[in-house]
Amino acid sequence: MTRAVLTIDLAALVANWRALDAMTAGETGAVVKADAYGLGVDRVAPALAAAGARQFFVALADEGAAVRRALGPGPRISVFSGHMAGDAATLRDHDLVPVLNSPEQMRRHAEALPGHAFGIQLDTGMNRLGLEPVDWAALRVEALARSPTLVMSHLACADEPDHPMNARQLAAFRAMTDGTGLPRALSATGGILLGRDYHFDLCRPGVGLYGGMPFADAAPVVGLTLPVVQTRDVAIGETVGYSNSWTAARPSRIATVAAGYADGLIRAMGASARLFAGATPCPVVGRVSMDLITVDVTDLAEDPETLTILGAQQGVDVLASAAGTIGYEILTALGRRYERRYTA
Ligand SMILES: *Cc1c(COP(=O)(O)O)cnc(C)c1O
Repeated sequence: MTRAVLTIDLAALVANWRALDAMTAGETGAVVKADAYGLGVDRVAPALAAAGARQFFVALADEGAAVRRALGPGPRISVFSGHMAGDAATLRDHDLVPVLNSPEQMRRHAEALPGHAFGIQLDTGMNRLGLEPVDWAALRVEALARSPTLVMSHLACADEPDHPMNARQLAAFRAMTDGTGLPRALSATGGILLGRDYHFDLCRPGVGLYGGMPFADAAPVVGLTLPVVQTRDVAIGETVGYSNSWTAARPSRIATVAAGYADGLIRAMGASARLFAGATPCPVVGRVSMDLITVDVTDLAEDPETLTILGAQQGVDVLASAAGTIGYEILTALGRRYERRYTA
């Protein structure tokens, strides 16, 4: 193997979507923003559509255009950032539904694309996107007259089931949407796990589809195996890598693998991360370089040809915690240099 290989298990992806769908009484969509969390929307979106997903969500209109090209006509593709200046042609040409976030976006959409479908996002306390309660009160009658496709909000603390913010946002969402008769959507992956009260008509999981927390029962979707470029002996007292940050305390065997922070294996994972030779963990030693990582393979019986950094032994969240971050960031940082293999 001469290139690092990223494997994306589409069967596991579909199994995760089905498992989340089975937890809810209503419809389950799929969030495929940021190129399906880095895994390739041109492969991920059709796999989910074939499994039965009919609603897709992206962050930006241009992402929606890519999803439409991948899926063809039919599925609804909604855009979380709404209708931003300059978006009208993209929204129209690719049949995208902007989820409008402000009075300004409501006005822009009505003027630029009268009669074109739209959804509405309400702010229930996260203070990131969505109409404030006072704006919704002023615009509600006019908006309802134009039949939005959905009304949605987003939970700030859904990955902490006991956080009082969840119930507060649920109550705010109910207060703003009860009696509208519109399809309602509040929950992403974390909200699905909070239970039925949070599901409404439509759920919008993202990270759980891709095998990430807070969906602890998710099947792993991503594997990443790195080729060893060179292996060497290092004597006691010798150092490895930039800034001499690791010193051999015993005669050591060091393998250098071909991937680094330019491939999304962020420098912060440093010396607390591990790679695997089969089931055997091998610690990263020294700094992560742009294209290379050095690994202590002293305890292996043979020099490895490859080492695995993501797979059954170690998922995205374990690797993320070694780097002090979250699985979402590891996934979306995965680089462009990998050979990508999709399995179904
Ligand atoms: C990203 C996002 C989601 C999906 O969230 P996950 O935690 O990945 O399931 C759902 N809704 C909105 C508004 C989002 O921004």
